[in-house]
Amino acid sequence: MITPLLAGLSILTLLWLSWRYAWWRPATPWNRPRVLMYHMVCCHRPGTRFNKLRVPPDEFRKQVSWLRRKEFTFLHASELLATSPPMPAVCLTFDDGYRDNLLEADRILAEFEGKATLYLVTEREGSWSSKKKAHHPDDELASEPKLSDEEVRELLATGRWELGGHTTTHANLSKISTEDARREILAARQDFAERFGVIPPTFAYPFGIYEPRHCRMAEEAGYLAAVTVEPGVMGSPPLSPYEIPRVKISGKEGMPGFVLRMRGGKRGLSK
Ligand SMILES: [Zn+2]
Repeated sequence: MITPLLAGLSILTLLWLSWRYAWWRPATPWNRPRVLMYHMVCCHRPGTRFNKLRVPPDEFRKQVSWLRRKEFTFLHASELLATSPPMPAVCLTFDDGYRDNLLEADRILAEFEGKATLYLVTEREGSWSSKKKAHHPDDELASEPKLSDEEVRELLATGRWELGGHTTTHANLSKISTEDARREILAARQDFAERFGVIPPTFAYPFGIYEPRHCRMAEEAGYLAAVTVEPGVMGSPPLSPYEIPRVKISGKEGMPGFVLRMRGGKRGLSK
């Protein structure tokens, strides 16, 4: 016989799971592209803070395989605003420029004929991610191996990768002068043209920190669109092309978490 205490605990657990995963929520319509946000594809480092930014390669393989099986069209970020991409569609984005994007993510994308957009920081060596607040504030990420320019060229040569701007120094745009912010946003367009022979069509705000004036700067710089770290599924068409939300992919969730995020853009009600 179930005791009242046990019954109470079961109900509480069910309520907690419902709140945490919001599994009962209907899926956001599948005619709206899912823009996924990744950083690294590598094994976890025990005892470190940022394992949620590290999606293990076998998990990433399962995710891309699922997308292929469900017949998602893979888009580059520059294609998000195209009039009518075949649906359902997905745009994989990788922020910052970690070396494992070439060593791990690319071979999995090749296997499933996927493609991705790389929001590349121009100056990747040194402590570029160490002095800002928000999601990568310390040396743990600064010391992760980054792509060299030669490796970026290797990625581009596959035809699977598109470059996007992510500022020169991974600047917190709200903490620097207007003039510096404008330069940080604009510089990648000329810099990438010189280094890689391509002009990045879209932009990602470092740390997802931005204000309306930064959206205008991205537009004035010539970017077609910009992505944020606001969790969610973009509108079709998006409310603002310079505030495209993304679906955060956590390295700490298995396939059920991934599928829930694909359905509604978030794992639960808020994240
Ligand atoms: Zn970043």
